[in-house]
Amino acid sequence: LPEEFVRALPVLEKLNLAGFETYFVGGCVRDALLGRAIHDVDIATSAYPAEVKAIFPKTIDIGIEHGTVLVLMGKSEAEHYEVTTFRTESDYTDYRRPDHVDFVRDLREDLRRRDFTVNAFACGADGEIIDLFDGLQDLQDKRLRAVGLAEERFNEDALRIMRAMRFAAALGFEIEPMTFQAMMSHAELLMKISIERIFVELDKLLRADGWRKGLSVLIESGAWQYLPDFELAGLKKFLTVLSKTFQFKSSAQAWAIMLAQFDNISVKKYLRKWKVSNEFIRDVTALTEAHQLDKWDLASVYKFGLATCQLVDDWKMAEGLKIDFDRTVKIDERLQIHDKSEIVVKGSDLIKMGFQAGPELGKMLAEIEEKIVNNEWINKREFILEKISTVSGI
Ligand code: ATP
Ligand code: MG
Repeated sequence: LPEEFVRALPVLEKLNLAGFETYFVGGCVRDALLGRAIHDVDIATSAYPAEVKAIFPKTIDIGIEHGTVLVLMGKSEAEHYEVTTFRTESDYTDYRRPDHVDFVRDLREDLRRRDFTVNAFACGADGEIIDLFDGLQDLQDKRLRAVGLAEERFNEDALRIMRAMRFAAALGFEIEPMTFQAMMSHAELLMKISIERIFVELDKLLRADGWRKGLSVLIESGAWQYLPDFELAGLKKFLTVLSKTFQFKSSAQAWAIMLAQFDNISVKKYLRKWKVSNEFIRDVTALTEAHQLDKWDLASVYKFGLATCQLVDDWKMAEGLKIDFDRTVKIDERLQIHDKSEIVVKGSDLIKMGFQAGPELGKMLAEIEEKIVNNEWINKREFILEKISTVSGI
């Protein structure tokens, strides 16, 4: 057992002792078998939520209607595990979320509702792997295959189409032909899926080592047609413009580079359709804008910030440009301030000197900022106040 599992063993043992079947399930078992880093250890049990809560002193209801209870272990409370009751899902009348979930006592039922064979393992406290759908063979053959009939599974929940390409990208697996066929024939159902959930999967796809593979599946399955204003030509270009081994350093960088391949789009308007946060839109817009500049200077490094400039440097290098990364850092080091708030003279100081509050004052403050950014003025009170009185004749 990997150490992440060993640490969680007390949770399994307590539930087992109380007479409930309990297993590690889902992605963590897959990643353990692949020797990959384990993110979250998910635990499934035959105990109903109320029974789980009765066994552990510290729990939080995080999704009790879905059967999930967060169990807090250890002194720090930093250690916590999602414990979910075995469940089935049924009646996906809208091709997305199940209309209701039923708690069941049978592990098989729980594993059957899972999307792909390699996501449908369970692992007991003794380390025994329960593999009902030949997932171990698929794991060995690096194959992503739907549990059961692929068509039914995508019909139930079309998000699984996006998840398939996301896992193909993350695991470097090929998609099994029947599964792929079903992705193609059901791609249109993606229009029924909330854009936020699609964003999460596409974003994970882009951040995966095998993002090119994932995007190729997006193209070949035809699924791209059902994402807001995706452009085939742009997507194909996206696959070729960056150096072979390039990995995105942030989500914003990935989206900025992708959208830069699309013709004549406004990043802001485009991303609104994806219902992402304003902060994310700001980050992508900044990268897009900064990428259009030829060379950094004090003003642009100040405006965008070193981190954004470095992401742009990284992007340009991937496009084959020669980049002097040191120069960017040196410019940043020459900046006296990195934010307006660091200017030692405030509006109130100017008012005390006799200036009127209003737009003129704002303009003055902006000029002071510019002079400090360009190192024409020193960010020292006496210096600035002296300069102002000379310039304005006060
Ligand atoms: P990651 O490492 O990215 O978290 P994961 O396999 O844990 O990968 P999650 O999205 O966290 O993926 O889902 C956890 C598990 O729940 C999956 O492994 C799968 O068994 C099941 N699952 C999640 N979403 C679906 C879905 N839409 N349809 C069927 N099963 C799903
Ligand atoms: Mg997970």
